[in-house]
Amino acid sequence: MEDSNRHKGMRKRLALQLYEKGIQDEKVLGAIQAIPRHFFLDKAFEEHAYEDKAFPIDEEQTISQPYTVAYQTELLNVQKREKVLEVGTGSGYQSAILALLGARLYTIERHEKLQKKAKKMFDLLGLLGIRSYFGDGYRGLGEFAPFDKILVTAGATEIPTALKEQLKIGGVLVIPVGNSNHQKMLKITRTTATDYKQEVLKTFRFVPLLKGKNSWKNI
Ligand code: SAM
Repeated sequence: MEDSNRHKGMRKRLALQLYEKGIQDEKVLGAIQAIPRHFFLDKAFEEHAYEDKAFPIDEEQTISQPYTVAYQTELLNVQKREKVLEVGTGSGYQSAILALLGARLYTIERHEKLQKKAKKMFDLLGLLGIRSYFGDGYRGLGEFAPFDKILVTAGATEIPTALKEQLKIGGVLVIPVGNSNHQKMLKITRTTATDYKQEVLKTFRFVPLLKGKNSWKNI
């Protein structure tokens, strides 16, 4: 796979577009410019990789629109060395962005084919610190909790209790919640052992967060 100057130029333009759409965090815009999104797409869509659009990936899933990735990443406000859980690895593009920002990233995907493909790409890009799991992220990854931040990249109908419980005090969960047509982005902060603060933000449309397989394994 090649990352040419033409690709880099297209990424620069994409970052500028995202800035114009309201993304302000320079680190996030820098990560968008750094990660070759065309590596995470099927060949058929490669030419379109730097359009601000979602595209189909295997298993009838999608790689999120760059604006959505940037918006969720900005909200999460990841600091270096923070322990972060991503639910819904999908193509692995969002994971790569989080890892580049310095997260100690755990990512989980319920489709084994996607999980394995994303893992290969992490290795290819030298993102060796990403811990990639196959299984049901609806239940989080209790074995590695608590997390500083949790990001859900699929649309939920409710906030999974396990995810709230796996946050550190002061930790943040970013999750789209709604019905199959649209979901509101929620930013939930754990303020004490028992209290949470909730902010309701913009509307998006994600593929559904499913309650999936009952077992998981580390690959
Ligand atoms: N972050 C992804 C990217 O950059 O390509 C976007 C992924 S897509 C919008 C959402 C992903 O969540 C899909 O790959 C889907 O299989 C996965 N998913 C849905 N429910 C899940 C669950 N309970 N546990 C783990 N993954 C899940």
